[in-house]
Amino acid sequence: MKIKKGIGASPGVAIAPAVVVDTEEFDIPERHVPVDHAQAELARLRKAIGVSKKEILDLRKRSADRIGKEIASIFDFHLGLLEDEALVKKFSDTILGGHVTAEYAVATVLRGFAKEFQAMPTQYLAERVKDVYDIEKRLLRNLIGQRRHSLAHLTRDVNLLAHDLTPSQAAGMDREHVLGLAIDAGGLTSHTTIVARALGIPAVVGLNDVAAEVASGDLVIIDGNRGVVVIGPDPQTIEGYRKFAAKQVEFIHSLDKLRDLPAVTRDGHEVTLLGNVEFPDEAENVLDKGGSGVGLYRTEFLFLGSDTEPSEDDQYKAYRRVLDICGDRPVVIRTFDLGADKYTQSRQRTPERNPMLGCRSIRYCLQNLAMFKRQVRAILRASVNTQASLLFPLIASLSELRQAKTVVRDVIEDLEEEEIEHRSDIPIGMMVETPAAALQCDAFAQEVDYFSIGTNDLVQYTLAVDRGNEKVASMYTMTNPAVLRLIKEIVRAGQRFDIPVSMCGEMAGDPQYTLLLLGLGLRIFSCSPPAIPEIKKMVRSVTLEQAMMVARRVMSFDTEKEVTNFLRVETRKILPEAYAD
Ligand code: PEP
Ligand code: MG
Repeated sequence: MKIKKGIGASPGVAIAPAVVVDTEEFDIPERHVPVDHAQAELARLRKAIGVSKKEILDLRKRSADRIGKEIASIFDFHLGLLEDEALVKKFSDTILGGHVTAEYAVATVLRGFAKEFQAMPTQYLAERVKDVYDIEKRLLRNLIGQRRHSLAHLTRDVNLLAHDLTPSQAAGMDREHVLGLAIDAGGLTSHTTIVARALGIPAVVGLNDVAAEVASGDLVIIDGNRGVVVIGPDPQTIEGYRKFAAKQVEFIHSLDKLRDLPAVTRDGHEVTLLGNVEFPDEAENVLDKGGSGVGLYRTEFLFLGSDTEPSEDDQYKAYRRVLDICGDRPVVIRTFDLGADKYTQSRQRTPERNPMLGCRSIRYCLQNLAMFKRQVRAILRASVNTQASLLFPLIASLSELRQAKTVVRDVIEDLEEEEIEHRSDIPIGMMVETPAAALQCDAFAQEVDYFSIGTNDLVQYTLAVDRGNEKVASMYTMTNPAVLRLIKEIVRAGQRFDIPVSMCGEMAGDPQYTLLLLGLGLRIFSCSPPAIPEIKKMVRSVTLEQAMMVARRVMSFDTEKEVTNFLRVETRKILPEAYAD
């Protein structure tokens, strides 16, 4: 039995055999397959060789057109290797003789080959080592790609282990059979984590090397509450976890009865609880969990997994779907927040050097005006007779906000000219998720109808800590006093200028922060649907006076440790079930 510690990213316990879908490059552990699966592995490898050859031929042709035949002939070596009968025989002997996966065969055989080349006396051959690794990478990518594809169609319950997953891969998982998720990469607010939470799948991220340590088929426990993965658990551990999981389920069911009760403090102060959604149908989950509308619709998920922009009509249908589900309840539609870890397929192939600080979000939209206008058109058309509002992400300067608002005005003019039905008085809000916006919130408050605090980004930009990087995950803390001061100022600016302030970052969905946020004056919380009942329970269990006392105390602390410890103690008194021992 082996215990790996990561970050508990989505609560719950999952006990199931592992499926490992990705690996650290060049680090493939031995993975046996049943004897009768070996032929299928060989067939997978043959297919991957065929695809790789085709890719290389294409590359050779394109390179020859662009940079001349000499350079393109490098690819002849790659092709020669893939067509080498001795090599193909070695692959086949390894798979059929050892009953191992195609990935394992590729890695071991080609690494052996690379070593032989390295030892060659002539420089030309020694330098071909890089080409051998290149071929290995290509074959693995094509093999792993095939496996990834099958993630959507699993036939049995599994725990999914991966070195990394994109948000769209996570979203495409077979929800019925993936019981838990464990990933080497990522942090508490990476978008893959957010998707796992939205799907209600227990998840642990930031594990560094779990994908290389587990073989598909190994029994694995994923404990999303404590951030632990147990590999090959003993019977006693399994039993302990079964009991713990049953208690958790009981607790979640006990919250069901809050569904139709209002989110109101014990001393009568009303709070609005909304849900964050990535996919239109998720709006149903929000209502099922007792949310009173959608506080953040991350529309960029319409883009992911596809090479092309969704058409205006496709977008119209998606927005209408959310609005129809919500009826006369509020729905906040955020314009595309593409970039950083939410790439379109084509941008994924040409990454920026520093994407979190790059052409992301509103910046990307303002540089791609035709796309931006199509989206605003679709939103305005879909919003007729609804409680929809528009939200701009990642605003950092007034001029950016003004440009975005000008686009809305232009689109309204176009729609009027074309006599197309639309909503021209849609409320326009902005995410406050950069320190620049937070520090200038008085000025912004006079130009928007509402603020939505995006703590996921506000924390990363305030603390200069990448929200998706497991190596700095321990420094990513929402309780840093600098972050808390910014939040307090944003809420106050909203009160001063009489505009609503909501919070849609993950902080809003963590019961540890509910007392503090209420005490700071926040009255609108938007979180992933499964978190709504817990937050409602917190709100209904406390008085505003209590919350204000907690906030005052918290704001007097100088370190995040003091804040975290204090909030943990206070929250535990109210909601002991939410804490795992
Ligand atoms: C945020 O940054 O807090 C937020 C809600 O937006 P996203 O997580 O989509 O960046
Ligand atoms: Mg954000």
